[in-house]
Amino acid sequence: AIHEFDGTVDSVCPFCGVGCQTTINVKDGRIVQVDGRDGPANENRLCVKGRFGYDYVMSPERLTKPLIRRDDAPKAGDIDMRFMKVTDIFREASWEEALERAASGIAKIRDERGGGALAGFGSAKGSNEEAYLFQKLIRQGFGTNNVDHCTRLCHASSVAALLEGVGSGAVSAPFTDALKADCIVVIGARPATNHPVAATYFKQAAKDGKKLIVIDPRRQELMRHASHPVQFTPGSDVALLNAVLHVIVDEKLYDEQYIQAHVDGFDALREKVRDFSPEAMAEVCGVSAETIRDVARTYATAERSIIFWGMGISQHTHGTDNSRGLIALSLITGHVGRPGTGLHPLRGQNNVQGASDAGLIPMMYPDYRLVENADVRASMEDFWGRSLDPKRGLTVVEIMDAIHAGDISGMYIMGENPAMSDPDQHHARAALAKLDHLVVQDIFLTETCWHADVVLPASAQAEKWGTYTNTNRQVQIGRPALDPPGEARQDWELIVELANRIGLDWQYDGVGAVYTEMASVMPSLKHISWERLLAEDSVTYPVSEPGGFGNEVIFTDGFPTADGRGRLVPADLRPPDEVPDEDYPLVLTTGRLLEHWHTGAMTRRATVLDDIEPEGIAAMNPREIGRHGFKPGQMIAVETRRGTIQAVLRADREVADGMIFMPFCFNESPANVLTNPQLDPFGKIPEFKYCAARVSRV
Ligand code: SF4
Repeated sequence: AIHEFDGTVDSVCPFCGVGCQTTINVKDGRIVQVDGRDGPANENRLCVKGRFGYDYVMSPERLTKPLIRRDDAPKAGDIDMRFMKVTDIFREASWEEALERAASGIAKIRDERGGGALAGFGSAKGSNEEAYLFQKLIRQGFGTNNVDHCTRLCHASSVAALLEGVGSGAVSAPFTDALKADCIVVIGARPATNHPVAATYFKQAAKDGKKLIVIDPRRQELMRHASHPVQFTPGSDVALLNAVLHVIVDEKLYDEQYIQAHVDGFDALREKVRDFSPEAMAEVCGVSAETIRDVARTYATAERSIIFWGMGISQHTHGTDNSRGLIALSLITGHVGRPGTGLHPLRGQNNVQGASDAGLIPMMYPDYRLVENADVRASMEDFWGRSLDPKRGLTVVEIMDAIHAGDISGMYIMGENPAMSDPDQHHARAALAKLDHLVVQDIFLTETCWHADVVLPASAQAEKWGTYTNTNRQVQIGRPALDPPGEARQDWELIVELANRIGLDWQYDGVGAVYTEMASVMPSLKHISWERLLAEDSVTYPVSEPGGFGNEVIFTDGFPTADGRGRLVPADLRPPDEVPDEDYPLVLTTGRLLEHWHTGAMTRRATVLDDIEPEGIAAMNPREIGRHGFKPGQMIAVETRRGTIQAVLRADREVADGMIFMPFCFNESPANVLTNPQLDPFGKIPEFKYCAARVSRV
């Protein structure tokens, strides 16, 4: 019978930040089915990735033995291992040899050049415990704050604006609060593709008669459910948000009492948005003044309004300004701190919230305490028993630049794939190739592994214990359903092995012990013990009293800033870094597909998902395709100032005229060869959502 299993294990989905709870069904040592459980974020639902994307875990391509780069192997650079034998580059090694080689290379650079010559990328796909141990190793053992992860490519600008404006980078209410709202704004996000189970709540709210305002430069499925589908000119976010703010200020739709009680900076904001009338901004945004006014009135006058946003807001050189606009909307209307209201940056990876909370970022220890604050640093030095680097570390893209400059010569990368995910890929891969010592820990021979000196085979999420914090601040427990294949080992054990081989003395008797140490320095996890998580599976932080429920809605009475008040920061118009011109007349934007996850390392090895979306594509509007004399299905070349790649042309009416959309998951058409590494000055996030491009026949 189909439903006879040898065992079932309750866990969480390994893909997106929605954090759907799952039951993994195992037979004959293999996962054979995954079902949705009644978790707080999914109520038995799963999307196609969670339900059918599990067999990557059992892929024959899993790494099963430690690998060491052959002395005569090329030093990476532009080698493409898709067309090479692994044995031409690497030889298998014992764990002892591999760990010793990995650790001694790190220790040598640290002792000869100082900790600042080292860096580490951890992973938002790993657990909270792995994130905590990883950043502790880099800070305590390597002696540097050069530790970061893909949050830098994701919501770094949103978090910068939120910390500045409301004193916390976390969401103020769960996405399920859409059902309690009267007006829901979804801007620069495509939840039906990237947070599919969250999207079901937004659709349900629309069906219930709530106002749904969906704002995006590309059309999208959710717009079919929207009361206000608004397609606007890419890159004109600040103009649009300032125009909406202008209407709210001009028509006195703001909440004066709330502003007086909780918000600073209103006068400066009013002054700034004075010149941004909808009539003046309509042409800039490609949205009629009437629509802008309608959006502003609908949002401001609703009893409860909530805002969700994604990478379309954050991945710009003005990403922090975009989020400042959203925060201003929420604060001046008092749409925050009550059920059905608030600010919710939809987090991408399954644990990007938790990894950031656990200190996997270069400027802050766990729970966002600044490394540059002498008192905070002293307390962490006391706790970890070592003196710590007083300077904030470098971020993802800055680390690549520092390698090129010769300032960094060694790296440890766990579960991240910068050779595919970083902007200006040739530059990023050249940096990885330039390192004297690169240790990569992963489950597959990713494009980043191609550059490694030592490869450590690790465990997939379905093979380990750990906690993961989803976009709703729900800390959830993941349980192992299978053993790692071959000689592959648990990630946390490998971090501990490296720590003890570079002079530390770490003793943990399991993942629970790591969680307990981590929670002891994170006030946000107060009253959430490992034992409680084992018993309840999911607890929302913060919890106010022992055994109490988590607070789903925060900022109920002011903000966790020094004076308890929110702060408005007006934003100026700044164009994207690279605008179209005669040579490169189109706008290239990148993102994800429903079936594939980020750089594709997992989902391209999940047979159902890869069968649905098997090849690299470039999507353009049929009108634009006609103008170029192309035909859908043909190969085209897409070129920017950083490189050229080829992809299959797809006709897509959701893509606006003058635009190209490319997913970044296909290593045969790697979109990040093309993207612009220019950074937002505050969040240090690159401008993935906008650069100038051209297309040609091949
Ligand atoms: Fe997994 Fe996200 Fe899909 Fe839920 S919505 S099943 S967490 S990928």
